[in-house]
Amino acid sequence: MQNIVLFGPPGAGKGTQSAFLVDHFGFVHLSTGDIFRSNIKGDTELGRLAKTYMEKGQLVPDEVTIRMLEDSANAHQAAKGFIFDGFPRTTAQAQSLDQFLEGKGQSILGMLALEVPEEELRTRLAKRAETSGRADDADPKVIQKRIDVYNEETAPVAKHYQSQGKYQGVQGVGSMEEIFGRLSAAIQDLS
Ligand code: AMP
Repeated sequence: MQNIVLFGPPGAGKGTQSAFLVDHFGFVHLSTGDIFRSNIKGDTELGRLAKTYMEKGQLVPDEVTIRMLEDSANAHQAAKGFIFDGFPRTTAQAQSLDQFLEGKGQSILGMLALEVPEEELRTRLAKRAETSGRADDADPKVIQKRIDVYNEETAPVAKHYQSQGKYQGVQGVGSMEEIFGRLSAAIQDLS
């Protein structure tokens, strides 16, 4: 079982690269942002709750997010490995994920962190807004809030994996193929 956390700020390319990694390595991709968006689309109770946070660029509360992630992982019993994308975003989420996997006799193999300068993130998100249809990409104030929340609440999650010797930074600027090559090499190194 190879479980990977694909980490990085909003606009780092986690979703794009996850799709390549799924094709190449056969992971099951679990993106908490995607799961929230599909709940919003389906107008579920969870979606209505998540929307109130997402539209402001804030994090959805840990308790709700962790339960949703665990339910989604449990729905894929036959998975040969997961890519966690956009989760964990707080240290409490990282600790819960460790416990959850431990209960299944599994663990995180490594955290791969896409490193992209902040200016480049703003440019990418503004460009993505033209096609993503995401309200949280369209408003520069919400983009800034997401970057601030990342720096304050999410960046410290890297330390959780560093302390376990599982953190690996990956240069996230370049062509999609180049970045995919770096991630693949990092995964081979971890395995
Ligand atoms: P993303 O698609 O990963 O950019 O996530 C979009 C939004 O969903 C974030 O700005 C948060 O409001 C919410 N979200 C996604 N993942 C999490 C998480 N792990 N914890 C809390 N909120 C999350």
